[in-house]
Amino acid sequence: MKKILLKNVKTIVTCDNEDRQLFGYDLLIEDGVIKAIEKDLQDEAAEVMDAGNLLVYPGLVNTHHHFYQVLTRNIPEIQKLELFDWLLWLYERWRHLTSDMVHAASMVAMAELVKYGATTIFDHHYVFPQGEKDLIDREFEAAKTLGVRLHASRGSMSLGRSEGGLPPDDLVQSASEILADSERLIKRYHDTSHGAMTQVVLAPCSPFSVDREIMIKSAELARRYGVKLHTHLAETADEEDFCIKTLGDRPLAYMESVNWVGEDVFYAHGIFFNDEELQRLRETGTGVAHCPVSNMKLASGVARISEMLPLGIPVGLAVDGSASNDSSNLLLEIRTGYLLQRLTYKEKAPEAYEFLKIATRGGAGILGRKDIGSLEVGKCADMFFVKSDGVNYAGCLEDPKAIPGVIGINEPVHMTMVGGEIIYKEGKFSHIDEAAYAAKVNEFSKKLR
Ligand SMILES: [Zn+2]
Repeated sequence: MKKILLKNVKTIVTCDNEDRQLFGYDLLIEDGVIKAIEKDLQDEAAEVMDAGNLLVYPGLVNTHHHFYQVLTRNIPEIQKLELFDWLLWLYERWRHLTSDMVHAASMVAMAELVKYGATTIFDHHYVFPQGEKDLIDREFEAAKTLGVRLHASRGSMSLGRSEGGLPPDDLVQSASEILADSERLIKRYHDTSHGAMTQVVLAPCSPFSVDREIMIKSAELARRYGVKLHTHLAETADEEDFCIKTLGDRPLAYMESVNWVGEDVFYAHGIFFNDEELQRLRETGTGVAHCPVSNMKLASGVARISEMLPLGIPVGLAVDGSASNDSSNLLLEIRTGYLLQRLTYKEKAPEAYEFLKIATRGGAGILGRKDIGSLEVGKCADMFFVKSDGVNYAGCLEDPKAIPGVIGINEPVHMTMVGGEIIYKEGKFSHIDEAAYAAKVNEFSKKLR
C-alpha cells in the first residue's frame, strides 16, 4: 500500500460543492485515492512531502483534442483560412498519416497538456488513411507510458467528396468497417471502474463528413455498451448553411433526428445555437466542450457560455486540435475563456473561478466521471501543484481559486500527479524523454508538409 502525506499545504483549491479553499491543511493519499484532508494528519507509513509553499488544484480535464494535428501546426499557408478551406488544405496532408506519427504526436500533445496541469485527456481521432488500423491503440499506448488518463474516441468519416461531403474519398470508411472497429475498441479499452485509466467514446466527425446511417448506428452501438457520444457541432456559419441546404435541418434538429441528444452526448464548440436550442440542451442534459482559443483562431465565433452556465447546460473546457490552437495548454484556455466571455458579456460573464470549475469538474461531468474533477475524500489523487513564492503570484494569494483565470498560470506547473503518481515534476517527465519525442515530431512534421 503506497501512502503519500502532503503536509501543511499552502492552499488546497478543492472545486467541491462548497467551493472550499483550505489553508494549511494536510492531504493523505492511499493507493492513488484521497483518504483524508484535515489539519495535523499523522501517518508513519506515509512518504511525507512538505507543501507549505504549494497551491494544489484538481487535475484539469481536457474534453476535445485531435492529437495528430501536432504534426500540422503553425503552418503559414493556412493562418488566414476559416474552417472549410482550412480543412480542405489539411486533408491533403493528413491522408499521409502513419501509426508511428500518431503515436509520437499523441505523446507530444498529452505531454504538453500534463506540463500545464492536465491529468485526464479526451481525444477525437477521425482520420484513418487506408491500411492504418491501430491508430487509437497507439494513442492508448502513449497515454499508458506517460501515466495519464485517456478517453480516446473512435472517430469516423463516411461521406466523401463524391457524395457531397467535405473529406477526400480515400479518407472515408464504410459503415461496417467503422462499427466493427468501434466495437473492438470498446471491448478492449472501455473501463468503467473507479480510477479507470482508459475509456472509449464514439465520435463521428461532423454533420458534413459522415452520413445519417453512421450517426444512427454509432448511437445504437454506444448505448448498447454505455459509452459516450461526441461530435463537432454548431462550430461555424458554414456548417449551419451546409446542414440546412443538404440535410434540411439546423444542426441541432438534425442531431435530434438521429437520436444524438441526451446526457451521454457532448458536442465540441456549440457556438451557433439559438435560444430555443439552448433550452433543448438544458432539457436533454446534452453537454458542450468549449474551445475558446480555437474558436478565436479560426474566427468561428463566441460560444454562449455565459448563458449556458446559468441554464445548467453541462460545459467542459478544451484546447481543440493543435492545427487550430496551436498549442495544448488548458491553463491558457481558462484565462482566455474567462477574458473572452468578459469582453462579450460584460457583467453577465461568469467569474474567473467558474472557468477553473468547467476545466475540472465540468469536464469530469461531460466525460461521465464521478471519481475525478475535485479534491475530496474518495476521489482519485489527480492534481497539479504551483509554487506560490515567485513574482507571478505576489500580492494575489488570498483567493487562489481565481488565479488561473484572473492572473493566469503562465508557465509549466511545478508538479502533476495522476492517481497518486507524480508524472511530471520540476521540468521533467517521470516516464518519457521529452526532447526525444519533440525531435520525432519535428521529423514527422517535415515529412507531412
Ligand atoms: Zn475539433
